[in-house]
Amino acid sequence: MAEVLVYVDHVDGAVRKPTLELLTLARRLGEPVAVALGPGAENTAPALAEHGAVKVLTADAAEFGDYLVVPKVDALQAAYEAISPAAVLLPSSAEAKEIAARLAVRIGSGIITDAVDLEAGDQGPVATQSVFAAAFSTRTRVSKGAPVITVKPNSAPVEAAPAAGAVEALTVSFSEKATGTKIVSRTPRESTGRPELTEAAIVVSGGRGVNGAENFAVIEALADSLGAAVGASRAAVDAGWYPHSSQVGQTGKSVSPQLYIASGISGAIQHRAGMQTSKTIVAINKDAEAPIFDLVDYGVVGDLFEVVPQLTDEIKVR
Ligand code: FAD
Repeated sequence: MAEVLVYVDHVDGAVRKPTLELLTLARRLGEPVAVALGPGAENTAPALAEHGAVKVLTADAAEFGDYLVVPKVDALQAAYEAISPAAVLLPSSAEAKEIAARLAVRIGSGIITDAVDLEAGDQGPVATQSVFAAAFSTRTRVSKGAPVITVKPNSAPVEAAPAAGAVEALTVSFSEKATGTKIVSRTPRESTGRPELTEAAIVVSGGRGVNGAENFAVIEALADSLGAAVGASRAAVDAGWYPHSSQVGQTGKSVSPQLYIASGISGAIQHRAGMQTSKTIVAINKDAEAPIFDLVDYGVVGDLFEVVPQLTDEIKVR
């Protein structure tokens, strides 16, 4: 059976959910071989084996932490050359997309980014993408070499599928280019205690209708009652009411949660580009003509300051 390389996103050995989703998709294409890099790489093995990884290739070196993505590209290329996989899968994070692009160039293959589904095809894996602000769905195949595919979080379920998960050390020789740019400092973001926006199963977003930074407390209360992440439209971010790291849309983050609740957001095409692949969309807007209502599964025409607190109270008592 063909092997499929899966790039592991982890923090000190704790595997992040999008990687487990990748393993579900990788099993449709062949036998997943995971590549975990950096501190704690070996500790990822039990979780990866539990979700279908037949092998876990690990490497740790100062280069992975000290420099930008090139050392990771070197490592992934070494893994690629060692196993000649049928495909390489990575999560659709900003970092992994850069790794994917560089890897595709090096191995003379093609790249597909932001896939929302994957299936095996007669002539290689076929990826579904949502394009042109999610107005169209395309099914795409790379026509030369092993495809390098990044997959949006929440595109597949996490499934238990116990496998061997044998750990093997990966030998990496770093290219000269790997050390061209050095990371001089890292500042961790203050934790809000909420899930990461792009990985959250539920996102509650506020827009210009929230009308002030202090009023985002209403959005946050609903988010917390659901264990959700908080998002914002660009209008809310540009007004300084919420941080740019929470912006959803074309020039913000792309999210694909099970449930997306938009409050006081009109539904401009640039906002839709970042959330239209959400499985269920709910909007609360006082204007019945707002374009957001064209794409919702459930819409509430009303003042968010009346509707959202009622919703929060109702969820809390359940
Ligand atoms: P508005 O369009 O002003 O809508 C506010 C909505 O709130 C209205 O529909 C109104 O009826 C409703 N409302 C007001 N008060 C209440 C209330 N009390 N209760 C309920 N409803 C209420 N936008 C993004 O979001 N993300 C992006 O990444 C992004 N990138 C862009 C990139 C480019 C190149 C450009 C040109 C634009 C981009 N935009 C982006 C901006 C986008 O075009 C819109 O301007 C923006 O999305 C509007 O935000 P909004 O819906 O919050 O505000």
